[in-house]
Parts: sequence; C-alpha cells; structure tokens
Amino acid sequence: MAINTDSVLVSHEEIVQMLDRVSAQINHDYEGKSLVVIGILTGAFIFTADLVRRLEVPVIVDFMQVSSYQGEFSTGLLKIKKDLSYDIKDKDVLIVEDIVDTGRTLALLKEQLYKREPKSLKICTAFDKPSRRVTDLKPDYNGITIPDEFIVGYGLDLDGMYRDFADVRIVRKE
Ligand code: 5GP
Ligand code: MG
Repeated sequence: MAINTDSVLVSHEEIVQMLDRVSAQINHDYEGKSLVVIGILTGAFIFTADLVRRLEVPVIVDFMQVSSYQGEFSTGLLKIKKDLSYDIKDKDVLIVEDIVDTGRTLALLKEQLYKREPKSLKICTAFDKPSRRVTDLKPDYNGITIPDEFIVGYGLDLDGMYRDFADVRIVRKE
C-alpha cells in the first residue's frame, strides 16, 4: 500500500493568517498578564514555536508529552510520558495542541492539570476536527476547523514522518 500526500488541505499562507489571528486574540485576552505556554509534544512543536514568537506578553514555554488510552473499566486514562519542568500553581496557563479529534487526550489532561491549581487554564489548538468529538471539550482558541480526514504536516505525523511539511495535507492510502 502506497501513501499519497499530494492533496493540500491548508496552504502555508492560510496557516500564517491563522497564526496572526489566533495570536492577536491571545494578546488581547492576556494583556497585562504573563503566561505559561504548554506545548504538547510532539505534534505541537512547530505551532508552539510559531505562536510564542507572535505573543506580546511575557511567556514561560514548557512542554508535556502525553497519550490517552482506554482502560478496561474506565472511560479513559492519561499516560504522562514527559511532565512539566515548571510549577503552574496560580499561573495563567495555555495548553497548545496540534489537533483536537475525539477530545479525550485534552479532557483528561485538563482534569490532571486542574489538580495543580493554576489561576486559569485554556486550550489553543491549530486544527479542530469537531465531527469526531466524543467529549464536551471545546478549545478556547481554534486555528482551523477541518473535515474528518487524517492530516499530516505542520508538526503532524504519520509514523513520525511528514512533520516538516510547511502546509497541511490529507493522507490517502492507495
Ligand atoms: P484525541 O484525544 O483528541 O482523539 O487525540 C488527539 C491526538 O490524536 C492529536 O493530538 C494527534 O496526535 C492525533 N490525531 C488526531 N487526528 C489526527 C490527524 O488527522 N492527523 C494526525 N497526524 N494526528 C491526529
Ligand atoms: Mg497530539
């Protein structure tokens, strides 16, 4: 089976426009404050880097690596593969994610991070696939809403590949 990534869904120009729009909203909402930005590895590494360079508020940048899985008797469990380096108690925190799909990962992560008593906790995602949602998770800042397709590029991968594409493409298996 061959992988075809010829179909561009979001151009680089559209991504740049999205970055300008989302960063302007964040700059407006957090004016006079400072932020702890938590990039979710690995997919959000490029979005996080592009976003923080557009922020006008002081930021601490940190990263977490997490995955969610279905437990036998529970609705979902969160595995933390890399935890934060900083304490977020009483801080304004912004989680930066590549894509929200079912919403399971971020719903569980939010629950975990609330236990650390941040002053506020919001979510910013580059891409949103609301048609696949199984939780009531709603990103506070959404870059681009996409249809129910598997996408790669701009940090998003297929088996570790294609993260380097400057645009976003639909994966077709032929
Ligand atoms: P959720 O818990 O919201 O279902 O899972 C979200 C995670 O699944 C994302 O952080 C991302 O790692 C992965 N994911 C969901 N949709 C896609 C997609 O279209 N392309 C890629 N590359 N990863 C996806
Ligand atoms: Mg992810």
